[in-house]
Amino acid sequence: MDQRDGTYSVSSGNQKQCNDLESLWCVSELFLLNRSFQNPQSRLEQSSFTTNIQASKKSTDNQKSNPMFKVSICTAIATSLFFLLFSSPPKPSHHSLYISSSLSDNASISHHLYTLTRRPHIAGSKANADAAAYVLSTLSSYAIKSHIVSYDVALTYPVSRSLTLIRPSPEPSTTFDLRQEIYDGDPYADVASEVVPTFHAYAKSGTVAGPVVYVNYGRVEDYEVLKEMGVSVEGTVVLARYGKIFRGDIVQNAFAAGAIGAVVYTDRKDYGGGGGDARWFPDDKWMPPSGVQVGSLLTVDGDPTTPGWASTRDECERLSEEEVENGGGVGMIPSLPISAADGEAIMRTIGGQVANDDWQGSTDAPVYRVGPGPAILNLSYTGEQKITTIQNVFGVIEGTEEPDRFVLLGNHRDAWTFGAVDPNSGTATLLEVAQRLRKLQKRGWRPRRTIVLCNWDAEEYGLTGSTEWVEENREMLASKAIAYLNVDSAVSGAGFYASATPQLDELLKQATQQVQDPDNSSQSIYESWVGSSNSPIIGRLGGGGSDFAAFVQHVGVPATDISFGAGYPVYHSMYDDFIWMKKFGDPMFHRHAAAASIWGLVALRLADEEFLPFDYLSYAYELQKSAKELEGEISNKGINLIPLFKSIEKFKRAATKINHQRKEIEENKGWASIWKKEHLKVRELNDRLMMAERAFTDRDGLLGRPWYKHLIYGPLKHDDYGSKSFPGIDDAIEKAKSQSTEKSWSLVQHEVWRVSRAVIDASLVLNGELT
Ligand SMILES: [Zn+2]
Repeated sequence: MDQRDGTYSVSSGNQKQCNDLESLWCVSELFLLNRSFQNPQSRLEQSSFTTNIQASKKSTDNQKSNPMFKVSICTAIATSLFFLLFSSPPKPSHHSLYISSSLSDNASISHHLYTLTRRPHIAGSKANADAAAYVLSTLSSYAIKSHIVSYDVALTYPVSRSLTLIRPSPEPSTTFDLRQEIYDGDPYADVASEVVPTFHAYAKSGTVAGPVVYVNYGRVEDYEVLKEMGVSVEGTVVLARYGKIFRGDIVQNAFAAGAIGAVVYTDRKDYGGGGGDARWFPDDKWMPPSGVQVGSLLTVDGDPTTPGWASTRDECERLSEEEVENGGGVGMIPSLPISAADGEAIMRTIGGQVANDDWQGSTDAPVYRVGPGPAILNLSYTGEQKITTIQNVFGVIEGTEEPDRFVLLGNHRDAWTFGAVDPNSGTATLLEVAQRLRKLQKRGWRPRRTIVLCNWDAEEYGLTGSTEWVEENREMLASKAIAYLNVDSAVSGAGFYASATPQLDELLKQATQQVQDPDNSSQSIYESWVGSSNSPIIGRLGGGGSDFAAFVQHVGVPATDISFGAGYPVYHSMYDDFIWMKKFGDPMFHRHAAAASIWGLVALRLADEEFLPFDYLSYAYELQKSAKELEGEISNKGINLIPLFKSIEKFKRAATKINHQRKEIEENKGWASIWKKEHLKVRELNDRLMMAERAFTDRDGLLGRPWYKHLIYGPLKHDDYGSKSFPGIDDAIEKAKSQSTEKSWSLVQHEVWRVSRAVIDASLVLNGELT
């Protein structure tokens, strides 16, 4: 145990290491492991990139006169050359071993998931601290050096809630019980009382009463429709349904439209199997009528009282609750999430015009009208903000040749309820990756670069654990992080989904070509992912959906996010439990095993390959595609996009050039590689590949959203889930369209220039030459 500020670590000494620094025998033995001419221990001690040939020279000089030593050294060199020439390349074989069925263990994945989800474990709870201890001890049992880093962050919890529907007399009023029901035989009935009462984290406390207006999904465009219908939401309590945008934006948009309160329900059409004779959990995968989607409203990332800096455990600067509210990232009006049953009960009392067809519910649902009223909703919510200790768990496998280069794999642990899908399918998968890496280590594998396994806390509140850690380690990550590989909910069903920064597209495609589809053994995941199109759909990482946000959008670290299944009906409700996963998500846990294969294989290639498997030509192609879309959007607005297109051309040339340079080094290596003459060249080229993504970030960040530094990918202003290319240009266009002044359009031009400069900066980094 090693006590540090807010952290403690468990180290394990089981890694096979060569302890005799001077022994060339030892070095030749290492050929078997790494096909490397470097001594691992000296590499661990020196973070700079030097060979240990010189380091060991001094002591070998002393032994030169010994004839036995001469024999030894000749034998050693001969042995080394033998292995170099005739042994199969160990790393690729370790990689295929990693994805082979002999190493995967779905029984232990199932066991991890069962254990992690025995009790509800919201951030800040004792149960979640127990889950952290489980992750820590499991990583340690795999001989992975592990530790916990804690932060004190502002989280909110519900104190009291009430919702009453007052109908015109003589109809009686209804007070909703706001409870999710347990079912017959529910094995979690004994701990159901530990599930947090349904609420919105960071909702405003208060009591409001007003006529109800139905606002569909609560998007900006939905309010435009209401406006066209002549319906004002001023002074009303809106009824919105979940499903299209981030809930924080549903409440934000309601506030912006003048509403005084908001209730957000789960429509049967979207989550209940479409109504009719559809059945629900535990008989089918659908959300039961009393199921409620809990969640956070936070539209900023991390602890809102420490924007841009870490909530370190010892004294740290903190904004007051009033300052946080003035920032606008929290709920500005009282709100509550409610069930399908309660939503429908309210809907039946709304009068006024009939809503559009695409605003209606399932076929057997009542006709949806928009109101306002005549029924009145009386909503009361009291929450409390508590400074709470959260725990990120880390496992570190130190790289032997480049320990100062980090490949990070991350998943969060905290859950609104039991979290069998979100997020612990990911946690169980992370532990499976760890177990397989342990098995590889037993067979002699050592990563070239350092692998960091991260298990975040308080993601559900606002990506808080990862954001605080990234803010604390910003400079280290900016100079040393190769990539961040996120998995949130690893499995909610069949079908592979991926998002990435584009230089990692090719690597994802290659990895999925190597892994068998868990739902169709006759083809690879790649084949089913592509389907009938030419190329798979890869999403981008501009949104705030999970822990990749701080890495990509704040620091500019290349990243991926993968999962099996696209969403699931019991999301963030108390029915997201192990039984749901066993029955509907992944009965055999073979999708989990496949997720571990892809996740780990991508990590292994990034950690082990001499040249980073990045392809910036894909990035150039994506930039060009986005620029063309932009051209279509603002043609005839007098905006000059030539600087942007020119910068992309320059970037494309730089991407081609660095690919060429890489090939050149590879071809010219030959025998030189034995003596590592090319090491510095390789390292320098890799550094350019690593740093090019950083060049897309800008110190000042997006206008009015300075935490978001990335100028290529950022969240949509009115939907934190949505990812946007050129978010700064997009913000400026939106403003210009509403203001329609010359000045506002010149701001669009300014944003185009900013993006163009960032793209040119990235090309300069790829070129690696001073101007
Ligand atoms: Zn999650």
